[in-house]
Amino acid sequence: MDITTIEHYLSIEASHQLHQTTLPSPSAIQAASSSLPSPSSPTYLDSHSPSATISHITNDILPALTGQSRSGRYFGFVTGGVQPIAEWADNIVSRVDQNVQVHLPDQTVATEVEDAALRMLAGVLRLEEGDWRGRTFTTGATASNVLGLACGRETIIGRRIPDGEGTVGDLGLLRACRLAGIDDVQVLTSAGHSSLSKASSIVGLGRGSVIQLPLSSEEPWKLDLNAVEEHLQRPGVASIIAVSIGEVNTGRFAVQGLEDMQRLRALADKYGAWIHIDGAFGIFARALEKTQEFETLHKRVEGVELADSITVDGHKLLNVPYDCGVFFTRTASTLQSVFANPNAAYLSSSAQATIPSPLNIGIENSRRWRALPAYAVLLTEGRPGIARSLARMTRLSRGVARYLGKSEHYDLLPSGAGAQEDEIFMIVLFRARRKETNEVLVEKINDTREMYISGTSWQGEKAARVAVSSWKVDPEQDLKVVEAVLTTVAEGKSFDIAAVA
Ligand SMILES: *Cc1c(COP(=O)(O)O)cnc(C)c1O
Repeated sequence: MDITTIEHYLSIEASHQLHQTTLPSPSAIQAASSSLPSPSSPTYLDSHSPSATISHITNDILPALTGQSRSGRYFGFVTGGVQPIAEWADNIVSRVDQNVQVHLPDQTVATEVEDAALRMLAGVLRLEEGDWRGRTFTTGATASNVLGLACGRETIIGRRIPDGEGTVGDLGLLRACRLAGIDDVQVLTSAGHSSLSKASSIVGLGRGSVIQLPLSSEEPWKLDLNAVEEHLQRPGVASIIAVSIGEVNTGRFAVQGLEDMQRLRALADKYGAWIHIDGAFGIFARALEKTQEFETLHKRVEGVELADSITVDGHKLLNVPYDCGVFFTRTASTLQSVFANPNAAYLSSSAQATIPSPLNIGIENSRRWRALPAYAVLLTEGRPGIARSLARMTRLSRGVARYLGKSEHYDLLPSGAGAQEDEIFMIVLFRARRKETNEVLVEKINDTREMYISGTSWQGEKAARVAVSSWKVDPEQDLKVVEAVLTTVAEGKSFDIAAVA
């Protein structure tokens, strides 16, 4: 089958089959599941024509997928949507199959495009350009957190190793710690994302090294700076401070703003600690327009530039396809100390190269040309387009919060000072007041198939969570549907989309 026929199928059949708003029907999933090749079938592992494969994928598999890229009302997890220009660019990436391993400026412009995209993203996030020379694309925020903890570990232990003994990357963690006189490494955080513990395990610190230091049980996302200071004073312990800039359950921020970040910076400098920002989605608040509407959010994310490293997700609010994350640190040499791929003469770039080869600053050697979809979005949307898309997400979230706040059926969470509308970026947490309704709330809402949300818990009880993350969102139209769904579910009625004007 030639390429034009494949494109014909992709454009016509695939779009026809990808119609669901949120979840596929249970019967579509069942049908897709039974259409998969069975090891007990006599024809298992036989060959099939490309057209048979295409028709199986379009007719059986596509109808059994979630509609997160098709709808602005898929509010589960934080998935992001896909900007059409990013989808187009992602297909180009597959077509040209560049391996962005070595920076080869005389042979391909691919690594230069990556670097341009990283610089543009830093600009959109209002990070001073010259300060973030250690930058690379990753597979997502989890991978970026691995890089952050690895760079932190490299630096905070490294600076206590006697001169001439080597780096953590060369010596390994055990020998490095012995030479540095360190018995323990701790990661201090508040409501740190679960992937921070996973990253701690991967880089050899252990999940147990992550210490939660919440300011209070009412506001667990806020970092207790006094407790941080106490922990930094522990003798023989090296520390990484991991700041949740956007806590995934409530969407709130670990610090109040610039003053908190300045205090953390001073503490980190005094005790030789590393500051890592997990800004997977929350850092995008910096890309909002600087108007009164978003003033509080801008305040909460001020001072991020004082950190040593930053995690950013691409496949969430930048709305590029999976998988894409970004990592920033101040110098490329910090990354090279961990990730240099040594002694492979055939993989070397030219000596005068200004852009480091990706294989020496990240996990993979061979990898996808992950930057192109991000580059396409950054170029097409620019700061104004990205800000408009984020504003739509924020406005819908705040509209939902306003409805919940007034509703007799629901409680907007968290209550108290943190509940103020201007603190809301794109996550809204709530629960039903009636206990029986709350038990089945998420299920009932998702059963409507007109919006999809994630279940979670808040202070020991079930809660529901709306995360608005797609460029497709229409604050007015989608709010009407959300209000109608929430009202009918609370009243125990069945939902009819046709009744929503
Ligand atoms: C989503 C998320 C992660 C993990 O991101 P992946 O892209 O799924 O690896 C880490 N931290 C925060 C704050 C997140 O929201």
